[in-house]
Amino acid sequence: MPELPEVEVTRQSIQPVAGARVLALRLGKPLRWPLGVAPELLVGLRLGPVGRRGKYLWLPLERDLQTPPPAAAGGLLWHLGMSGSLAFGDRLGPPGKHDHVDLVTDRGLLRLTDPRRFGAVVWAPAIDQPPASTLLAGLGPEPFDPAWTPAALHAALGSRRTAVKLALLSGELVVGAGNIYASDALWEAGIDPRTPCRRIGPGRAARLHAAVRRVLGEAIAAGGSTLRDFRNAHGEVGQYQGQARVYGREGEPCTRCGRPIRRIVQGQRATYFCLGCQHR
Ligand code: ZN
Repeated sequence: MPELPEVEVTRQSIQPVAGARVLALRLGKPLRWPLGVAPELLVGLRLGPVGRRGKYLWLPLERDLQTPPPAAAGGLLWHLGMSGSLAFGDRLGPPGKHDHVDLVTDRGLLRLTDPRRFGAVVWAPAIDQPPASTLLAGLGPEPFDPAWTPAALHAALGSRRTAVKLALLSGELVVGAGNIYASDALWEAGIDPRTPCRRIGPGRAARLHAAVRRVLGEAIAAGGSTLRDFRNAHGEVGQYQGQARVYGREGEPCTRCGRPIRRIVQGQRATYFCLGCQHR
């Protein structure tokens, strides 16, 4: 499923849509949540710069002098679900059976392809108003937000008894450390994924903080990870999976100590780690 790096890569690759004017919004089969506005009320609005919060993208819809009076300014919150991807271009052709949202603009078509239909596009009057604010409520801190500091991570680890890998996956400590990235960040920080959060002191919390940023930054620079079907808006696959530190490398030698990478299951998800250099 697309994780934060893939959503950020998507955000960057659809940024040319900013400034375009909406000509139409066409919906296919129902998605996870309804659009929440009549599509014709979006015609004539101008798209602002694409934002991201966690795994959600926010496309502001702004009114200007050419916008007809009934248009519903605000924005569209997009989620790629389990299998969604966005494409942007002026030669995408007619929608296929997995294309469920076409946002037609005067600069090209923004299309959501989502075979499993766990994704969604939801209109809201503003990102801090329902239903957008409801969907975004409860998300942990953004990994690259300056307010997310090693001390903040240490405080969040606090008294939790859960294994640190599971706490990372929950998104409560920080958003974005999905399965690949949580395994790799814990290897980078030298922390056993089964370690209870509360046993991680300030020094190790600082190493984990740096590791999460490093791994996510590298993943974004690599265009994300393509395990099954992720593509950016220009159809390009991600490359991070080929440079993963431990994820997907069971039995291969650890690049730091040479011991074989182990695979275990935590919370029904595969965890990869090295017994030689990750400690409880
Ligand atoms: Zn090792």
